[in-house]
Amino acid sequence: MVDTPGPALQERRAELAAALAGVRARIAAACATAGRPADEVTLIAITKTYPATDVQLLVDLGVADVGENRDQEAAPKAAAVAAAGRRPRWHFVGQLQRNKCRSVAGYADVVQSVDSVRLAMALADAARRRERSIEVLVQVSVDGAAGRGGAWADSADPDRELAAVAAAVAGLDQLRLRGLMAVAPLGWAPEAAFARLAEIADRFRADHSVATVLSAGMSDDLETAIAYGATHVRVGSALLGMRPPLG
Ligand SMILES: *Cc1c(COP(=O)(O)O)cnc(C)c1O
Repeated sequence: MVDTPGPALQERRAELAAALAGVRARIAAACATAGRPADEVTLIAITKTYPATDVQLLVDLGVADVGENRDQEAAPKAAAVAAAGRRPRWHFVGQLQRNKCRSVAGYADVVQSVDSVRLAMALADAARRRERSIEVLVQVSVDGAAGRGGAWADSADPDRELAAVAAAVAGLDQLRLRGLMAVAPLGWAPEAAFARLAEIADRFRADHSVATVLSAGMSDDLETAIAYGATHVRVGSALLGMRPPLG
C-alpha cells in the first residue's frame, strides 16, 4: 500500500517548507555579511515538543541534522523516525545526567552538552557497551556561572574545568572531540556573549586544532552567532513554531 500523506500532513509540510526556506535565507544572508561561504554553517533543527512526523517531514525537505534536549522525549522519537525509514544525524543538546547516557548512546550521533569529566567517562562507557563511537562537543559556560551547565576555563571544580573536560573527551576511545557548544547567557546581549565565546574557541583550538565545530546561535540570535564564527546553529521555534511555555 502506498502511504499517501493526509491533508493535515500536507499542510504541515508546506508550513515547514516555508519556514525552512526562511531560516536558510537568514543563514545565507548572515554568511554573506560575514564574508563566509554559506556551506560553512550547518543547520540543526531542534525538534523538542514536536512530533516524530515533523522530523520526518523536515528530513524529507532536506534537513540532515536534528536535535533534542530531553532523553525521555528523544528516545521514542528517534525510534519512531528510524521505524519510518529516515536517518537524520541526532544531536543531543540538553543537560545530560549520567544515568541517561546509556539511553542517549543508543541514538545520538553527537552529544553537544558534555560539561564534566565524569559525564565524559559515563558517556564513553555507554558508547563502549553499545560498540559505537559518539562525536562530542564540550559545552562551555560563557559567563562561568555554575548553575546553567557548561565547563569553563578557571572553574574551581576540577570536574568542570574546560581543559580537563576536553582532555578527558580527547583521551577516551569511544568519544571524538569535535568542538564547543554554548548558549548565550540570560541577560547578555548576543554580541557580548558570542564575542566572548569566539575568544574561548580561539584559545581552545590552539590545544585541539581538529576540534573546529562551534555550535552557537538559536532562532533569535543566529545572525550574531554566525558573525562570530558559529559553524552550527540550533534552530527550533523559527522552524517549527512557538513552543508552549516551559516546553
Ligand atoms: C531549544 C533549544 C534550542 C532552540 O531554541 P529556539 O530559540 O527555539 O531556536 C537551541 N539550543 C538548545 C540547547 C535548546 O535547548
